[in-house]
Amino acid sequence: MLNYLYLFFIGTFIGSYFSSLVFEDTKLVITKRRSKCQKCKNNLKSWMLVPVFSYLALSGRCHYCKEDISMAYPLLELITGASFVLLSLNYTYDLSQIFILSTMALFIASSFSDQKNLEISNTLIYSTLTFGLIYMFLNFNSDLIYGFITGGLFFEIQRYISKGKWVGQADAYFAATIGCLMGFELTILTIFLSYWLATIYVIPKLLSRSINMKSKLPFIPFLTLSFFLVNFFYDIIVINLNYF
Ligand SMILES: [Zn+2]
Repeated sequence: MLNYLYLFFIGTFIGSYFSSLVFEDTKLVITKRRSKCQKCKNNLKSWMLVPVFSYLALSGRCHYCKEDISMAYPLLELITGASFVLLSLNYTYDLSQIFILSTMALFIASSFSDQKNLEISNTLIYSTLTFGLIYMFLNFNSDLIYGFITGGLFFEIQRYISKGKWVGQADAYFAATIGCLMGFELTILTIFLSYWLATIYVIPKLLSRSINMKSKLPFIPFLTLSFFLVNFFYDIIVINLNYF
């Protein structure tokens, strides 16, 4: 129980740290962590940086100028914390879990970024891929290499054919990262699941005409949700894959 509480707090702190990359466009440098109100530029005290708690304690407003703080901050922190706990329920503690959780945190932050700006900073994209590549080299085997190539090529080919209209560079890098971590079969599964999730999301919106076929859809959130689900149901999926 205490372990899960720790994991939740670690998750919310990492989420809080990445939120500065998403909402404030700073580089991934430890010292540049969120420390000022974006509106009045007053320096924040350390208790005002505690994830989730500070948002509640401040009733969602800046202590100095009373400007509303975006709900996206505590949401990103909560989702990251919750995903750390949920993805640890099935795991024995080992190196792969650290990589899965770190990648998950980067994916969640990138989803917020994609949702907000329809683009993701290079810092987030390259950090994510670097995590994947390090894991692949530490556990060097052909399955992970096939996963890496398949995930990357799947989106890179679409990007080439559509001249960047259907998918972005981030999609290819993130799918390649999933390949590095999960190998060939699970990468295919993750990609297809993300398309199903996107379809389920889009159909009602198309029918109600709140979007049209030309609307740009942020895709990283679906890839993230799919990556989460495949890891959460990892045991069940692997047992079923072995039947074939
Ligand atoms: Zn302020």
